[in-house]
Amino acid sequence: MTDRRTELADNLARVEERISAACAAAGRPREDVTLIVVTKTYPASDVRLLAELGVRHVAENRDQDAAPKAAECADLPLTWHFVGQLQTNKVRSVAGYADFVHSVDRTRLVTALSAAAAKAGRTLDCLIQVALDAESGERGERGGVASDGVTELADALAAAEGVRPAGLMTVAPLVGPYAGRPRAAFDRLMEISTGLRAAHPAANMVSAGMSADLDDAVAAGATHVRVGSAVLGVRPRLG
Ligand SMILES: *Cc1c(COP(=O)(O)O)cnc(C)c1O
Repeated sequence: MTDRRTELADNLARVEERISAACAAAGRPREDVTLIVVTKTYPASDVRLLAELGVRHVAENRDQDAAPKAAECADLPLTWHFVGQLQTNKVRSVAGYADFVHSVDRTRLVTALSAAAAKAGRTLDCLIQVALDAESGERGERGGVASDGVTELADALAAAEGVRPAGLMTVAPLVGPYAGRPRAAFDRLMEISTGLRAAHPAANMVSAGMSADLDDAVAAGATHVRVGSAVLGVRPRLG
């Protein structure tokens, strides 16, 4: 094994241990939770090693980096998740490689994703990003819609071709009433998810938890955790 491969294998084992422990503590079967490894800022060679180590879900947050990486890794059995703030002019590119988009937060994006997916002959599973620190009708600092905007977006996704509502995503807020309280934030996301599933039963994904707080997310009921630095190392630059 190369050094990098060993490092990634060790880190993956530690993350797997945390997910298993959190599942056991919550009385949830391990297979309830899917690990998505966030490979942003890291090279395609790392994505390849991760695939060899059994990773099946990877995520990126910038189309400029993701598009060439996904192309380089097209031979690998990977599902690609787009988790970053998304501009409408990038939607056509993202719709070419992403299977899941976790950052839908406005109707303009639904329209653009629908058009691009339909044109590419693909179906995109779309998660609505909830900003738990946003006031009613507003969007979050790092993207996301306030909780009272979820229904409108879910209905729009259900009505549009090429896209479907798959669930909810959040990032634990750094400001506002949930700052420093990831468990409370994820519990709130689960409540919003219950409301969403009443109208759209198939929209049952709950994407929450990162390296620092994946344990809280699993305890709250997350179905997908998005883990970057705990697997790949601390990122050399912001991303
Ligand atoms: C970078 C990123 C992650 C992973 O964060 P880590 O703290 O490195 O685990 C998860 N979700 C989103 C939306 C991200 O941008």
